[in-house]
Amino acid sequence: MDHGGETYISISGGKIMKRTSLFESVDNLAADRRRFLGQVLGACTISPPLSFFSMQLAASMSGSLTKEQRDSMTPLQVIDELKKGNERFRTGKMAPRDYVAEKRSSASGQYPAAVILGCVDSRVPAEIVFDAGIGDTFNGRVAGNVVNDDLLGSMEFACAASGAKLVLVLGHTACGAVKGAIDDVVLGNLTGLLARIKPAIPQTKFEGQKSSKNPAYVDAVARTNVKLALEHIRRRSPVLADLEKKGSIQITGAMYDLANGMVDFDG
Ligand SMILES: [Zn+2]
Repeated sequence: MDHGGETYISISGGKIMKRTSLFESVDNLAADRRRFLGQVLGACTISPPLSFFSMQLAASMSGSLTKEQRDSMTPLQVIDELKKGNERFRTGKMAPRDYVAEKRSSASGQYPAAVILGCVDSRVPAEIVFDAGIGDTFNGRVAGNVVNDDLLGSMEFACAASGAKLVLVLGHTACGAVKGAIDDVVLGNLTGLLARIKPAIPQTKFEGQKSSKNPAYVDAVARTNVKLALEHIRRRSPVLADLEKKGSIQITGAMYDLANGMVDFDG
């Protein structure tokens, strides 16, 4: 797409600018965009299409999200970019990435679009399964992706202080912490952590064998555990609940399938 004298390329359905100009002259880009829109829209003050600043979770370029890019996105667009990134991951078409350049571009400031609470499970690294780069997402990880006050504080920092648009609780299939909660495991400090998962057990409606040996049951409890985490966040964090009510952020859950690599935002 030719636009305001600059060439745009489309990646994963989004329109993004070639790296050579995007990070060297964001101000120029904004000026070009205004000029272009002025020509096209006359005196209208309509906001530019947000796709002009498509998130660089889809990075073909070597830089982290800029403030302007992040701020131009809606929570739903952030979810959409995460879905696209996950599709790239599970189809083996991950974006080429230069971590050194991403490190350099984010050293003086970070503008992540989402805060993700995931499990410590070694098989669910959020940045990889969403094909995201350095500076694109905040990440908290704890066994069973449970919420506590420190994680709530981290989410509040991410959204209210830093401007992230999405709180995502990411559960996963075959979660060992969920199995441990079902089996009533007692082990040091793990006992207290598993207690945070246990409320999901009686609240899971399930027909069939209710055992940690039954993968379908374990996953059903894990899904309930994500839903309860979302309720916990809204109940225990008026800061985040208010941001969600205003539409500034979205608080949502998803499940990652260890077998096929897919993140399901609908389950
Ligand atoms: Zn787990």
